[in-house]
Amino acid sequence: MLRTGIGYDSHRLVAGRPLILGGESIPFERGLEGHSDADAVAHALTDALLGASALGDIGRLFPDSDPQWKDADSIGLLRLACERLRAEGFVPRQADITVVLERPKLAPFLPAIINRLSTATGIPPHALNEGMGFIGRGEGIAVIAVAMVESA
Ligand code: MG
Repeated sequence: MLRTGIGYDSHRLVAGRPLILGGESIPFERGLEGHSDADAVAHALTDALLGASALGDIGRLFPDSDPQWKDADSIGLLRLACERLRAEGFVPRQADITVVLERPKLAPFLPAIINRLSTATGIPPHALNEGMGFIGRGEGIAVIAVAMVESA
């Protein structure tokens, strides 16, 4: 049986932080504020996969009150979430991700991001799509993800 899930995440852009999206370091004068690396792409995709599997959300699986997850690499958390899915009998099959931002341009980084997300989730690159939308005053980045999993 195929099941779908949706994930959403947003972070404010602030000075003095690296910008990391989908595990890629993206050269920019600001980065996303938050716990861990604030990788909104990884967070939204993780939530979509957990939602499709009815396994809660990233905050429940990796609470930021737990020192174990402080400064955690979000691609690592995505990989751990997928291991949990598989242990519960679900296989990640496909995902579509929309990144809503003004700047910087992400197009040059998309192949590398897709590659990282594919490695972390086991979803083949051809079943991963990432697009972009534009809104707001450049104060933050929002990400919407839809994912499909297959249950055994
Ligand atoms: Mg987040």
